[in-house]
Amino acid sequence: MKEIILIKDGELALKGLNRCNFENKLVNSIKRRLKSLGEIKIVKAQSTIYIEPQCDDFDFEEALERVRCIFGIAGFSRACVCEKTPEDIFAKAPLYLADSLRKAKTFKVESKRSDKTFPLKSPELSAQLGGVLLSAFPHLRVDVHNPDIIVTAEVRDYAAYIRGNQEKGAGGLPVGTSGKANVLISGGIDSPVAAYMMAKRGLSLNAIHFASPPYTSALAEEKVKTLLSKVARYSGTIKLAVVPFTEIQEEIRDKCPEDYFTLIMRRMMMRIACRVSKENECLGLITGESLGQVASQTLPAIGATDSVCDLPVMRPLIGMDKEEIIKISRAMDAFETSILPYEDCCTVFTPKHPHTRPKPGQCEKAEEYLDIEPLISRAIEGIVYSYIE
Ligand code: ATP
Ligand code: MG
Repeated sequence: MKEIILIKDGELALKGLNRCNFENKLVNSIKRRLKSLGEIKIVKAQSTIYIEPQCDDFDFEEALERVRCIFGIAGFSRACVCEKTPEDIFAKAPLYLADSLRKAKTFKVESKRSDKTFPLKSPELSAQLGGVLLSAFPHLRVDVHNPDIIVTAEVRDYAAYIRGNQEKGAGGLPVGTSGKANVLISGGIDSPVAAYMMAKRGLSLNAIHFASPPYTSALAEEKVKTLLSKVARYSGTIKLAVVPFTEIQEEIRDKCPEDYFTLIMRRMMMRIACRVSKENECLGLITGESLGQVASQTLPAIGATDSVCDLPVMRPLIGMDKEEIIKISRAMDAFETSILPYEDCCTVFTPKHPHTRPKPGQCEKAEEYLDIEPLISRAIEGIVYSYIE
């Protein structure tokens, strides 16, 4: 039996031009993700996208695995293609859905018909197909309120389709519909989750990582790349900038008051991230900060880092508990990598008593002996770019 993948798109609240942009970007995402599996034909109609493989050995399981990670999809399922006749639908449905109907105790049939020349109206098609399935699987009962399986028959322009239950999609907006932003990525738990969450709201991603060799190791950098590859399964390719940060950290250690080390380091990160973002057409920054989690994530500390940024800073985890963050980290398969024990530059030269409530002007004062501009320029000149798939 010929099969296709049937995709329902999400965010139905979108209207007009936004909706059109949404659909086009979603189709592009699907094409990009499935390209390496062989030729496919994609048809759009009534908030549904039909993916028709054009080769016989199409790997459906792998395709579904990839579809699970595409933002903008509300639900999806495999479906069987039938001729547009009641006879063919009645013949194929019990065969195609045999496994799941055998396991189910209750079912109901739903029909949709956009081709009004089809001889049965939707309620008649549902009733007759229900009868066919009941006689093929006599253990089944009809339950219209809470069935184990909903069998759907769709009669469309070119063909009819039969499917069982839909699987829930990744939700959100297709990547690229909201533009591009730059995620400050460490090797920790939080920033990959923050990146994932903003990709889900339609951002495509660049990433920036600050490395301080020899205080941080090559393994720490590898870990960041592995984490980004987990994010890239959802966001698509990520352009990564690795910034050499050793000189800046040593200068801060030598020239600034110890209790300001972390705040000043974070301000330097933000300044560099803003510049690099503009050079790469990124419209904002993303961080994994969560209010009150560590000394540098109090509101005054966040204010002190924000004040050196001239781009919007998105902090999707700001109101979340660690438990909630870890749940997402596990779901995106990043957690096991995140807890590998490599040093991040944030843990180099950490003050014994970090300042947590800087007043306006105090950070500027604490930075007065730093040669900020030349330090930033040298760090940016030393950036190494790579692409993470
Ligand atoms: P994470 O789990 O993401 O490491 P965290 O709870 O450890 O976060 P911090 O170390 O204070 O918190 O870092 C706060 C945020 O600053 C991170 O979420 C990340 O966005 C950014 N950041 C921290 N270290 C780096 C780094 N080496 N390179 C780039 N960004 C970083
Ligand atoms: Mg960290």
